[in-house]
Amino acid sequence: MLKVVLLAINAKYVHSSLSVWVIAGGVARYAQHPHDVVVVEATINQQTSDIVDVVAKHAPDVVGISSYIWSAALLPELLKLLRERLPEAVFTLGGPEASNNVDFWLKRGANYVLQGEGEYNFPQFLDTLAEGQMGQGDGSRQGDGSSVSLVRQKNRPPVSNRPPVSEPIDPYTDAFFDALTGRLSYIETSRGCPFQCSFCLSAGSTVQYFPLDTIKNQIFTLSQSSTKTLKFVDRTFNCNTDRAYKLFEYVIDLDTTCCFHFEVAADLFDDRTLSLLESAPPGRIQFEIGLQSFYEPALKASSRIMDVEKSERNIRTLMQIRNIHIHVDLIAGLPYEALIDFMNSFDRAYSLKTHTLQLGFLKLLHGSVLRKQAETYELQYLPEPPYEIISSPWLSVEDLRILKHVENALQHTRNKNRFLSTLDYILTTTGERPFKLMQSLGANVPNHGTQLEEYVSQIYEFCAALPGINKNTLQDNLTSDWLSMVKGKNTPAFMKNNDKSRDHVAAEAEKHLRRKIRREEYAVLSSGKGIFVDSDDQNPVTGLYSVHTVPKGELH
Ligand code: SF4
Repeated sequence: MLKVVLLAINAKYVHSSLSVWVIAGGVARYAQHPHDVVVVEATINQQTSDIVDVVAKHAPDVVGISSYIWSAALLPELLKLLRERLPEAVFTLGGPEASNNVDFWLKRGANYVLQGEGEYNFPQFLDTLAEGQMGQGDGSRQGDGSSVSLVRQKNRPPVSNRPPVSEPIDPYTDAFFDALTGRLSYIETSRGCPFQCSFCLSAGSTVQYFPLDTIKNQIFTLSQSSTKTLKFVDRTFNCNTDRAYKLFEYVIDLDTTCCFHFEVAADLFDDRTLSLLESAPPGRIQFEIGLQSFYEPALKASSRIMDVEKSERNIRTLMQIRNIHIHVDLIAGLPYEALIDFMNSFDRAYSLKTHTLQLGFLKLLHGSVLRKQAETYELQYLPEPPYEIISSPWLSVEDLRILKHVENALQHTRNKNRFLSTLDYILTTTGERPFKLMQSLGANVPNHGTQLEEYVSQIYEFCAALPGINKNTLQDNLTSDWLSMVKGKNTPAFMKNNDKSRDHVAAEAEKHLRRKIRREEYAVLSSGKGIFVDSDDQNPVTGLYSVHTVPKGELH
């Protein structure tokens, strides 16, 4: 019996890994020989030596490691240390990073790299290893003169051997739930994507749908577990409109406090689905919507098919419903999109007022069509993960530096639901474009781990000097925003006031809250109005606390 460790290295502690549990389930179901499989989940923030200790404790014969873009940078060092500690063990890599860059990983300590669907291939691999047949099979070849060899297992077993999709693996074992401990969990209800975006590894794969009843049972079990958020890893969840409708209907009707996160294409929502979504309890559903760009030549060059106007329309409709958290993505660096074009895309996306607007940078992933076209388009990118764009004929290094400023400001303000009314006030008063405001904020008030109290003071100082800004109104907006976002943290110095009406505001707030109020939880604005936060009343969609006003007329 082979002792096997399946190792996943997550980007954050709060994440969990689905793939290793599915592969463990694949071994339990499909392997012809008994194998003793243990799943180990670590994070990229752990010391590599600590990860080695945890793996070595199991004294495995085989270590299977799933490789993703976020973990790829630490894998060479990890493989080196693991090989030193476990000289007899066999190290096998799978996942998108390794399977699209096989020779690189064979030279960095992997004995084997597996391609294809792990729940089918990994059990075959273990059986072949157990039988001592490795290296003799179809498609294998010797490596670079060392002891490594590569088994290029076919992307899938021949159709006749491949288990039917009607019997997907159930990865949610007792061991899975023991390890979950309240972290995010993941589910796959379909595999593949019918679209062709050239920057994406899922492009053009045939979509397989898993049976609805099986999926509903899995969703139900997860919704009753310790997880707070269940993420659907389906590449375009609503590419089959009817099927998506049925699953939305199912999660909306569940009796649970779990939140369900889907990656969707906004232009694929029909009126029936939008109307169904109106009935979702607030905070039950989150959507992540890839817009990527509004610039037609960039979309065309990336083979991205999207009804831009319909996407916009549907996002506006979803935002009006106010019960669903909406995240939209833009990608900077696509072919043909210059800074001015991206600025237009950004401002158009900003105007949708979604809860999150993610500014991402093009990554030239191994195995993607765009990476193969990089020379043609003269795209310069980092040779190491994350393979991010450095420059292109349309975006200079300086342009990308500007975009990094925008990203920094966006991430620390609007995308954390911070300073929303302040930003609205500044944009309306100055007439500035959102992109330009974010650029100035990012360049002049960069946040590299700045404490929030200090950051808000810096924002105040910077914005107070902008043309047309009234300092009192700015301070009032920041005060209101501050109370709504921090649950009564210490008040920054510039917001403190000793207005004589504070006592009255506190008394009114205490009547409303039916409890004592702390001095950080209320303020008197320059207009004389009193405001206070109800920190027990948090919006489940935005995460903001409700701020109430004590009308001026009621003040003594
Ligand atoms: S970016 Fe999204 S829509 Fe495009 S191929 Fe990838 S998963 Fe499919």
